[in-house]
Amino acid sequence: MTARDSYRQLTEHMKDHWMLWSASFLAEWDQETYMPAGGGESRSRMLGMLARLSHEMSTDPKVDDWLSECESSDLAAGDTIEAANIRGLRRLYDRRTKLPKEFVEKEAELKSKARQTWVEARKKSDFSLFAPYLERTLDLQREKADLYGYEHEAYDALIDEFEPGATAVEIERVFQSLLPELVSLNAELRDAPRHPDIGILKRPYNVTKQRLFAEIVVDAIGYDFNEGRIDEVAHPFCTSFGPGDHRICTRYYPEDLAEGLTGAVHEAGHALYDMGLNREEYGLPCGDAMSLGLHESQSRLWENQVGRSRGFWEYFFPQAQRMFRDSLQEVTLEDFYHAMNYSAPSFIRVEADEATYNLHIMLRFDIERALIRGDLQVADIPGEWNKRFKDYFGLEVDRDSNGCLQDVHWSIGCFGYFPTYCLGNLYSAQFYAKANEELPGLESDFAHGDFCRLLKWLRENIHIHGSRYRSAELCRRVTGKPLSHQPLIDYLRSKYREIYGIG
Ligand code: ZN
Repeated sequence: MTARDSYRQLTEHMKDHWMLWSASFLAEWDQETYMPAGGGESRSRMLGMLARLSHEMSTDPKVDDWLSECESSDLAAGDTIEAANIRGLRRLYDRRTKLPKEFVEKEAELKSKARQTWVEARKKSDFSLFAPYLERTLDLQREKADLYGYEHEAYDALIDEFEPGATAVEIERVFQSLLPELVSLNAELRDAPRHPDIGILKRPYNVTKQRLFAEIVVDAIGYDFNEGRIDEVAHPFCTSFGPGDHRICTRYYPEDLAEGLTGAVHEAGHALYDMGLNREEYGLPCGDAMSLGLHESQSRLWENQVGRSRGFWEYFFPQAQRMFRDSLQEVTLEDFYHAMNYSAPSFIRVEADEATYNLHIMLRFDIERALIRGDLQVADIPGEWNKRFKDYFGLEVDRDSNGCLQDVHWSIGCFGYFPTYCLGNLYSAQFYAKANEELPGLESDFAHGDFCRLLKWLRENIHIHGSRYRSAELCRRVTGKPLSHQPLIDYLRSKYREIYGIG
């Protein structure tokens, strides 16, 4: 058998394996949207079965044999699509086979108990309830990192799950430059001479009309309803079942225009990435998203750089005004645009605006890295959290449910996940700055309702590559530079200073 034959068999097998994933995504989508309550039990059995089958297929010893054949041939050399698929599938195979069955079972059991306890602890705002479970979770995370193996520090092996190839030291380099700049920008905004009137967005907005308006907006930016649909759920998300089927789930609030709309645009940004992936490679690394950070860079770019820009609202505000006459009749474009960019420090990460969001992430990154290293003890988390919160935001945390107990991530063993949110923001700013350099007058396209040039640029430079290049390398290829804090801080500073009347 030639290496070429092995590659063909390997990729056919892995494409079939991906069908099982697609089936489980479909079952999960249905669970979140239309499944009657009574379907819960059989649905978990279905999902369990699909997960087991997919694990069996992806850890089949034949996969290892095919990969070894390919790796000892020319196919694995250079930066071709084949070579990238071989590297990506090797990574997947190794990660799936390095954890013994007993470990996986132990982890699943702890995860479920720790999550339940966290829900209880958050409700009572009592960290001491959650602490013993977090201790055990950390022990398992360290053990997991050892099983995966790492070069510098255990935390790297954990980030690799979400952001392949990223390291704590590299992330720290960018975060440390960003942190003081953001703290000082936020202090400027607090003392600014002018503050947007957020009340404009918190009036009655008919939900049926909001639905229609969101559809008009996502259609205009390029979301293809022939290959997608929008449904409503408690926690918005985007999911793809394969080429030609990319669904958005969002949520609308009767007294808030921004939440529902920006949520829909955010999820449409994720979907546009999936719609732009290489269809030929579907089921293989080159036909799949690179990382969580890169995925988030696309959703944030559409939500923030585009969806909160003046040009965007020059086009859409008159339509919004016609649609929501009662609430927007007296409002000017300028006041509306300012309200869309309102910023204020707050306790809860998921409610944070563009100027404060990344501070929430940096705080979590430092704490979870110190926990994995053993430099910070679990009992000391609330104290450390609250001290940093005061330094970054100027606010005293009143209770742990508003502080270190607010996120689900640690209870389900997701360490190394948080930085991907901030990486997404950093990549989105760096990509967007480059797009503006290569496509002058981009924002005036938006003012005419034209988003084609930007989408085409993103498709050609980012989406089509899937996982062909790691995020850091893709960033260098697209922008000519390594990831930096500068484009993000430049973007935030110039937009917010102008809106807040500073300088
Ligand atoms: Zn997202």
